[in-house]
Amino acid sequence: MSTSNILIVEDSITQRLMLQNTLEGKDYNVEVAKDGLEALNYLKNCNKLPDLIISDIIMPNVDGYELCLKIKQLYHEIFIILLTGNSDEEALQKSFHSGAVDFLEKPFNKTELLLRVKNVLRIKKAEDLLKNAMEELEKKNKTLKKQSITDELTGLVNRRHLIQKLNDEMYGAERYSTPLSIILLDIDYFKKINDSYGHLVGDEVLARVALMFKEHLRQTDVIGRYGGEEFLIILTNTPLENGVKVAKNFNSYIKKLKFRNMPDNIVTLSGGVCEFNNEIRCEDFLSRVDDLLYVAKNNGRDRIEF
Ligand code: GH3
Ligand code: MG
Ligand code: MG
Ligand code: MG
Repeated sequence: MSTSNILIVEDSITQRLMLQNTLEGKDYNVEVAKDGLEALNYLKNCNKLPDLIISDIIMPNVDGYELCLKIKQLYHEIFIILLTGNSDEEALQKSFHSGAVDFLEKPFNKTELLLRVKNVLRIKKAEDLLKNAMEELEKKNKTLKKQSITDELTGLVNRRHLIQKLNDEMYGAERYSTPLSIILLDIDYFKKINDSYGHLVGDEVLARVALMFKEHLRQTDVIGRYGGEEFLIILTNTPLENGVKVAKNFNSYIKKLKFRNMPDNIVTLSGGVCEFNNEIRCEDFLSRVDDLLYVAKNNGRDRIEF
């Protein structure tokens, strides 16, 4: 465990020295400030924030209460023990409300001070550990959540998430009476690519084509891997004619793509496009676009049907 850092804030030189002497030699790094203002300046410029501040209350410039309040705003992870000669109910209440974790009467008893410091630092360490663990956990959860909706090969969203998104967008389109179109695109004769160049080249083609989609779509559109070499695009706020334009653009762009390890080979796409209407259910909407794709295949491939 690393050594704890303590900042003493006290305007009286004798008290400051007494505090310093009590704490030094106990394996703490001790720094001092002669009032609240100096303490705040120290905090602004120090490399590592103290774990604990032991502060007097009555001081010129910025007093102990004000210092506490400022610290809670700016550096809420620092713990503060307030020290004062006046320990009436009002002073206790004020200390409590300004965010101090503990309160000690002056003249302080050395053993009592050391005990309080030790306990406060123990709580601080446990709190820091807990906070770090929670942050780690949150990070891991985020990664897991991302993984659960992402197709690993293409980095696009997966089928399950696509269908969820489609349901959401259908709900939105109905509620706000906005147009919504979907495009289903399928790479033609993809099996031949795998058979001629190998599965790894096939994978590269899928990843490159996915990138092409991402490069050309708007932030609000959703593109995902619907199946092996099938991609579904959800176009929010888009009527059929614009959806057809988008699909036809992709049908042209793909022919200009260059693929590593597959010189001079032109890859083509077939696709179906259809627009949402309020009566249709998600499965039927998807099966309609799938039927259109099938028509495109039957009509010779490398074409868009709508
Ligand atoms: P069509 O023009 O009718 O769409 O013919 P096709 O060959 O593209 O379609 P088919 O459904 O016959 O074959 C699709 C192929 O896609 C078969 C499958 O092995 C391959 N495939 C599916 N997922 C992947 C993948 O992740 N990587 C690679 N390399 N191939 C895949
Ligand atoms: Mg004082
Ligand atoms: Mg295919
Ligand atoms: Mg297919």
